[in-house]
Order: sequence, then C-alpha cells, then structure tokens
Amino acid sequence: MPRYDFRCRSCGATFELSRPMDRANDPAVCPEGHPDTVKLLSTVAVTGAAAPAPSGGGGGCCGGGCCG
Ligand SMILES: [Zn+2]
Repeated sequence: MPRYDFRCRSCGATFELSRPMDRANDPAVCPEGHPDTVKLLSTVAVTGAAAPAPSGGGGGCCGGGCCG
C-alpha cells in the first residue's frame, strides 16, 4: 500500500499515512487532530509495473522493509 506524506497547515507537523490509492486524495487529519492538511508530493514510485519478485530467497520477503 503506498504511503502519502501530509503536512498540517495548523501546526506544521508532517506525517505519513498508508492508504489505498483510491483514497489518496481523501482528507487526512493531523495527529494533533487538525483537519487542515495538505498532501505532499511523494518520492515513492508507484507505477503500473509489478515489482520484481525476489528469487531464491529464504525467510523474509524484503529484509524488513515492507513487512513490519
Ligand atoms: Zn496539526
């Protein structure tokens, strides 16, 4: 699930949310409870291409980057 960065215009806090792409533009509420937030451009590359599957690996799927 892609992550989106938001910034609160009330208190200036930045925070990150993971949400489905079809909810990307939904309003996000600051951890402090302020509803006046803006979505920041993310550097996360989410394209239509499937991620290459690791081959021959054993154990964790990603070395800890996405599993937990
Ligand atoms: Zn805030």
